[in-house]
Amino acid sequence: MICDCSEREGVEINSYQLFLDLKAFFEGQTAKGIFEDIPVETPSYVGYSELSGPMEWYAEKWYRCKSCGTLWEFQYPDFPAKGEVRKFSDGVYQPEC
Ligand SMILES: [Zn+2]
Repeated sequence: MICDCSEREGVEINSYQLFLDLKAFFEGQTAKGIFEDIPVETPSYVGYSELSGPMEWYAEKWYRCKSCGTLWEFQYPDFPAKGEVRKFSDGVYQPEC
């Protein structure tokens, strides 16, 4: 089983076309059995709102590469808020802060 994780990096998603391209890529890798779609377990951001108290944001998708173990976090954009793909080569998630 061959993946190309080592050639890909995390990326900021600043256009809708890029989002569609990435979504197709991840779904394609999953369909081929290279990536698996795994439950998002850890919030990508934990904050606090004066109005509603503690808040947590979760990425839409996590994918784990069955070939090399890399964990990919896929945060869908909600324009004008940009999305992001983050790469964790050792498979261990690190929340951003
Ligand atoms: Zn891989």
